[in-house]
Amino acid sequence: MDGHAAGEPAPRSLRRRGRGQPRMNAFTGAFWRSGDPGFADAATARVFNRRLPSRRPAAVLRAADVADVAEGVRLAAAEGWRVAVRSGGHSWAAWSLREDTLLIDLALFTGMSYDPTDATVTVGPAVRGGLDLDPYLAGHGRFFPVGHSPSVGMGGFLLQGGIGWNCRGWGWAAESLVSMEVVTAAGEVVRCSETENADLFWAARGSGPGFFGVVTAFRLRTRPRFRELTRSAYVFPSELAAEVLSWYHVARHDLPASVELAAVGCTPPGSDAPVLTVDAVSFDGGPASLAALDSCPVVARASARTVAEPVDFAELQAEQLRGNPENHRYAADNAFLSGSASELVPALVPAFTELPTPRTFTVLGDFTPLVARRPPDMAVSLQTDLYFAAYAIGTTPADDVLSRAWLDRTMSRLEPHSAGCYLGDSDLAVRADRIMSDAAWSTFRRIRAARDPEGRFPGYLGDPAQ
Ligand SMILES: Cc1cc2nc3c(=O)[nH]c(=O)nc-3n(C[C@H](O)[C@H](O)[C@H](O)COP(=O)(O)OP(=O)(O)OC[C@H]3O[C@@H](n4cnc5c(N)ncnc54)[C@H](O)[C@@H]3O)c2cc1C
Repeated sequence: MDGHAAGEPAPRSLRRRGRGQPRMNAFTGAFWRSGDPGFADAATARVFNRRLPSRRPAAVLRAADVADVAEGVRLAAAEGWRVAVRSGGHSWAAWSLREDTLLIDLALFTGMSYDPTDATVTVGPAVRGGLDLDPYLAGHGRFFPVGHSPSVGMGGFLLQGGIGWNCRGWGWAAESLVSMEVVTAAGEVVRCSETENADLFWAARGSGPGFFGVVTAFRLRTRPRFRELTRSAYVFPSELAAEVLSWYHVARHDLPASVELAAVGCTPPGSDAPVLTVDAVSFDGGPASLAALDSCPVVARASARTVAEPVDFAELQAEQLRGNPENHRYAADNAFLSGSASELVPALVPAFTELPTPRTFTVLGDFTPLVARRPPDMAVSLQTDLYFAAYAIGTTPADDVLSRAWLDRTMSRLEPHSAGCYLGDSDLAVRADRIMSDAAWSTFRRIRAARDPEGRFPGYLGDPAQ
């Protein structure tokens, strides 16, 4: 696999320096210490969330190849730094920015290679799921359930488990991992899979920013590309939120596994009144797979509706890009919920009807088929059949204050019903929560202690509430 982005300039080659002393080793990629010209951009320019923290690394290595990554891990050990990693730069909490670290930026790891003999694709961690991998696989008639917003990097997405398209029916994206190439905390390059370094493979499927290695390539099982997408969406005024959410809590179980299903709270452009949309996309299930949505008792009061219409994947992705604009300030939180409608709905309604900024949105996704099927044993281990996520989006520091206060209120109402959270939408430094089952957490700690005894990788930012 080619590890470089097609069309990108070759990275600047710098001889790296010790503390004031030139060394003989060289990186093929580019290297900056704090204070070097270009350091500030190298550290932060690729972070999606513009609500940047004040944390900064001690140095940045834009690695050109696996040898650079291994050499970077060894340099960090020699300098007494820990190692932070960036693939796509899309973690809401900017996890790649950690103090006293060498930040290994994998921006140049954008290779993709499809193997028709076993329908697997090998991707570099900075490949963007929707923008790069999806069109590449479409050319082979194949599909991978990439993250909803097309610019999300495959690296962080897969390591956290990955809630990709129709996660409800197809499961966590990490379930489709076949093997990985990993640079370990000792600076060795190893492969891991179910049968090779299986402990690393187990941990890499869900430990996210707590992972203690650098993944330089992922081999993924692809699936046949869908033939048709069918969509139903019902838009309700916010005063119907309690009735709609109560119905949704039951009706979601009646939709087949081919349907991705969510209730979404947002404020339409040009309006100041939030609406609640029940949105369902069927992958090859056709109109019949969406029939259960007509059973909503207030369906006649929907202010707009789309019933079983064909939709393009490109259109769905464009909506995601509009909903998650660049150059904005984000705060996200989430919970896997369980409870009856009478317990949950009163806690959920304000999360859909009182949004702090015009662009903020909330999602209540259904995972019924995934949970019923029981995912394999791996670090991601906490799912319930109901996933709530809130994305507060603003443009100013004053918006941050509003967003945070709203998230705090929202999550404190839901906490009594929460089994834990999904790392991908979490910021443990702000709100600690459980991230794995108790059994998985103790397995994870055992593997981490064996694989990274010196704590070369910094682990979670904020302690999980395990
Ligand atoms: C607009 C937007 C939409 C999103 N939509 C979805 C969605 O639909 N589904 C979903 O599940 N998530 C979604 N997310 C969350 C996203 O999956 C996570 O934030 C994920 O971490 C992003 O991966 P990244 O490589 O782009 O991020 P990065 O910030 O580069 O990585 C996050 C952290 O993961 C670890 N990491 C990343 N790559 C590696 C590697 N190669 N080796 C070792 N450690 C690594 C590091 O600790 C790193 O700091 C979305 C995020 C955004 C901003």
